Amino acid sequence: MTTEQSYKIGTPGQPWGSAEKSAWYQAQTVKRSYQSQVVSKIKSIHQSLSELLDLKRYGALSYNTDVYELWLFMSKQWQQDKPTILVTGGVHGYETSGVFGALRFVETELVKYSEHFNFIVAPCISPWGYETINRWNPNAVDPNRSFYKDGPAEESKNIMDYVLGLNIELLAHIDLHETTDTDNSEFRPALAARDAIDQKSWNIPDGFYGVGDSLKPQPEFQKAIIDSVSKVTHIAPADESNKLIGSDLAQFGVINYPTKELGLCAGFTDAEYVSTTEVYPDSPKSDAENCIIAQVAAVTGGLNYLVGKK
Ligand SMILES: [Zn+2]
Repeated sequence: MTTEQSYKIGTPGQPWGSAEKSAWYQAQTVKRSYQSQVVSKIKSIHQSLSELLDLKRYGALSYNTDVYELWLFMSKQWQQDKPTILVTGGVHGYETSGVFGALRFVETELVKYSEHFNFIVAPCISPWGYETINRWNPNAVDPNRSFYKDGPAEESKNIMDYVLGLNIELLAHIDLHETTDTDNSEFRPALAARDAIDQKSWNIPDGFYGVGDSLKPQPEFQKAIIDSVSKVTHIAPADESNKLIGSDLAQFGVINYPTKELGLCAGFTDAEYVSTTEVYPDSPKSDAENCIIAQVAAVTGGLNYLVGKK
């Protein structure tokens, strides 16, 4: 089923050119502060964990290099014989619990796992998207379709270049996201308008779900994440066609995407285990804090599985 959606910018049936993209950009406003809400938190967490973690400034977004500095945590005592875990958040800056879930994981859980793993944690990959509550970057580009060589989003390029430049083999990568009501009310209609495509319609799943990689689905790892999250919040049931957001259910609470082919963040490394988490902040059964706890439970569920396999 497809629906025609009208959107406030552009002409139906015609993909956006630079004028429409510029009109879209002009309509965006800063709604919250990355420096005072996120960077200050990053720095205070680092202060209390400075024995354990280094804080690296891996770049800055060209839109405003003073404001949009890019930060990541890295294990300080790098253990060559231990596997490395990558956790990313805020690839979609509006998905708030991805940012604060990554930070909460570092603050409350990372130390418990540091005897088993090295960590790289990048909590907010798209700070302009964080401030303006957006899925796209200022150029109307989705960073989470841009994780490929010479891709069009500097948000994606900065973290890719840094992590791949380390030349470290990664065991797992967990990328923290949300699926929200605004996906259907704003972001998918904007995408349909930008590209002059029909918008497929589906209901936003009520609850947490995970996205694995079709080429390396790792069902046991995904199950461990779902089992862990189900202790703190509800898992999204499949719809009447046994799908979640238009994709066939692979297992309870999990769908799989070809992550590299789609240019997803979860596909930019060759990690053996990957998951993209999706929490639903607009659920009547959830709230902002519950979403953060769910993100942390997803990461620790995956890590507990990997510890058990060693
Ligand atoms: Zn997302």
